[in-house]
Amino acid sequence: MNRVSVDTAGRPPSVDSLARELALRHSLPHALLVDFARRAIAESGADDVKQFADRLATEFGQSLLREVINATGVLLHTNLGRAPVEMQVSGRASNLELNMQTGERGSRQETVGKLLSLLCGAESALVVNNNAAAVLLVVAALANSRDVVVSRGESVEIGGNFRIPEVTEQSGARLIDVGTTNRTRLRDYKKAIDKRGNDIALILKVHPSNYRVSGFVEDTPVRELAELPVPVAVDIGSGLIDNTCPWLDARPPSWLSNEPAARQTISDGAALVMFSGDKLFGGPQCGVIVGRKDLVEACASHPLARALRPGSTTMLALQSLCLAYLNKTATKEIPFWKMAAISVEDLRARAQAIVAATKNHEVCQVDSLPGAGSAPGATIKSFGVVVRGDHLRELRSNSTPIIARVKDGRTFLDLRTVQPEDDEIVVRALNNLRV
Ligand SMILES: *Cc1c(COP(=O)(O)O)cnc(C)c1O
Repeated sequence: MNRVSVDTAGRPPSVDSLARELALRHSLPHALLVDFARRAIAESGADDVKQFADRLATEFGQSLLREVINATGVLLHTNLGRAPVEMQVSGRASNLELNMQTGERGSRQETVGKLLSLLCGAESALVVNNNAAAVLLVVAALANSRDVVVSRGESVEIGGNFRIPEVTEQSGARLIDVGTTNRTRLRDYKKAIDKRGNDIALILKVHPSNYRVSGFVEDTPVRELAELPVPVAVDIGSGLIDNTCPWLDARPPSWLSNEPAARQTISDGAALVMFSGDKLFGGPQCGVIVGRKDLVEACASHPLARALRPGSTTMLALQSLCLAYLNKTATKEIPFWKMAAISVEDLRARAQAIVAATKNHEVCQVDSLPGAGSAPGATIKSFGVVVRGDHLRELRSNSTPIIARVKDGRTFLDLRTVQPEDDEIVVRALNNLRV
């Protein structure tokens, strides 16, 4: 039997009195506090019932979704929501599906679709909830009950159980593997097409985002696949829009050199390109399908499109993002590109200023990572602050939680992923550490 806490009269505290006591320290809904009080009385020993209940409430409070400072140096950190997005919404209605000319019902996709098409040099575009949904919809709309040809080297799993064979199966298509794990040539695709003819609806090419095969490897470029008599749909994953990065003053950074880009994949002849909104594109969580108008329309009119459509906050964030790219203000307005474009000298100066304002800490050179499976193996030079000991937990419980990383018993805060306005918060947190 559980021992329960007792008051001076020998009775356990009532759930109600314990919940009311918790309410003095935690601004959480009463129903939750009652729940924690019940659990504490049922599960903890006589001495620590209050402490236990208090801990449950504290931990729940810390788990509530909120802003954190990313000092991990991983620009697109999946645990931290990938690309950070800045947005303001007033609570007013929007013209999400109102045609402003006729006053009739309009399309939530049309205007943003126009901007996305322009950015990618494509005829048409459609937005869904994430890239997994984009691939699912493309295969379901274009290849249901037919064949989809995929290279054996690209029949991949992209974290979180997104597996190409399973996605195709869910879409009602038959997967035809061609080539081998390390090499797939144009003639492998040709052979499949000769054998199965009209059954083949689509060639699906998938960028193996989160790993790299090296050595005796070969894949068939989109340019060559585009000569085949079957539309080529390419899942480029990370959503780099244009590998010439016209929104940057400088040349494209070298860490992006192996990333496929939407604009170039379209001009190489892909019929469709799919990518994530919240990776290298730097926007809200969504998936984008761009390409041939007839194929995008087939996706848009498939019943799944309704189930996968994004809401107004996503469309608004995406619209601002596209406008920033087109206006070439990306490095001022898109948090991801701000982090990516900041100079190593600026980072060193910030690290020195932080160290000067704190005690016992040192400036260090670190390597930031793109993250989210983008540009695997690539690193970006950066500066940060290093603190002796493991302080991850303490930094996480800061009033604005700071997420850092630990290596060899030392805590590293990489400043590339910290917004400069937050350096003051970092200084205060470092000065409060028990070192
Ligand atoms: C990340 C990724 C996905 C999944 O995208 P989500 O937006 O997370 O659904 C699919 N394919 C590739 C190649 C990816 O890199």
